[in-house]
Amino acid sequence: MHTYLDAPAVVRATAPDEPVILNRPHAAARAARFFVEKFPGRSLYAVKANPSPELLRILWDSGITHFDVASIAEVRLVRALLPEATLCFMHPVKTASAIGEAYHVHGVRTFSLDTIEELDKIVAATSDASGNPAQDLRLCVRLRVSSEYAELSLASKFGVDLADAAPLLQATRQVADWLGVCFHVGSQAMTPFAYVQAIERVRAAIVGASVTIDIINVGGGFPSVYPGMEPPPLEDYFASIFRASESLPISYSSELWCEPGRALCAEYSSLLVRVEKRRGNELFINDGAYGALYDAAHVGWNYPLRCLNEGRSAEEEAFVFYGPTCDDADYMEGPFLLPADIAPGDYIEIGMLGAYGAAMRTAFNGFGEGDVAIVGDEPMASLFTGSREIPASDNVVSLR
Ligand SMILES: *Cc1c(COP(=O)(O)O)cnc(C)c1O
Repeated sequence: MHTYLDAPAVVRATAPDEPVILNRPHAAARAARFFVEKFPGRSLYAVKANPSPELLRILWDSGITHFDVASIAEVRLVRALLPEATLCFMHPVKTASAIGEAYHVHGVRTFSLDTIEELDKIVAATSDASGNPAQDLRLCVRLRVSSEYAELSLASKFGVDLADAAPLLQATRQVADWLGVCFHVGSQAMTPFAYVQAIERVRAAIVGASVTIDIINVGGGFPSVYPGMEPPPLEDYFASIFRASESLPISYSSELWCEPGRALCAEYSSLLVRVEKRRGNELFINDGAYGALYDAAHVGWNYPLRCLNEGRSAEEEAFVFYGPTCDDADYMEGPFLLPADIAPGDYIEIGMLGAYGAAMRTAFNGFGEGDVAIVGDEPMASLFTGSREIPASDNVVSLR
């Protein structure tokens, strides 16, 4: 794949008709090394945030050895690419055949669950041909915790309630070689207190069940930087998690895990789009709700962005975007601040789309072909450069 200096260099060289994902391997490697060196435990990568093989390889080469997978397709993908990786099947609702294949074919030993039924399913699917139960299961009970400090909730769907946790923890302890507790505070958690509060719930669960715990898995939710969403430094999260987990009544040999998706890959990619039509303050661009801008359309997420055409006005106006498909749902409210005289044919770079961007692309309506290129410049914002600056404008944070 060709490596360019930056987005304007891609425009000069190729004037692309299709949207282009611009990947920054150095930014993903930097994020991985940061977690490997600074998180006070083990960092798993949550594959769903961006399953691209190039990224998985970069993270592995930068010290990420454990991967949180949620489907048998993710298990197969990571196993084929990284034969030595440790895979943890952290979806609490799996099919028996997926569990069986993961355990017997791909060497998966770590599974999560939030019901007795799922526990029974795991035990049955991992037994040997004579029906003897597996002796090497590492099972994490998913606890329901609050999502109140996160921008995207993960609180309703999964997790056993604290009130029902004791019998499940005790039953799981009986069959698990290692017993863990996991949770997810919601994606883009804006304060370390989200984790402190969740760990307090873990304390109540393990005290209530009187079980010994081998793994505390604080899940994902670590933030990245977006306009209007500037979190405290990740070191603060790590320190708070460490302090809270140190005070739990657990064994000295127990491990602290986390499963970042977004934080490990948000800075990896930006997106290059073109304005195809302007109608007042509405810009029709060539990517949208069914492409890499899913979150911009469906949950109103905002991203840093810049117009790449030289000579455009310094005066900015608020725009909304329409994507390329034929329905009204392909609409992004922003507001996106861009030069007042932006025009059809202009290119826009949209930053911080490495997480839940490229991964969301569909081919709906014949769009979504898209290209990929590598660029060498810095992401529009970073939590890992140690040089966060005052925002230069409302929608460009930490421009370097
Ligand atoms: C989605 C998910 C993650 C990653 O979440 P981020 O908010 O992207 O860090 C981690 N663990 C589980 C179980 C998930 O479902």
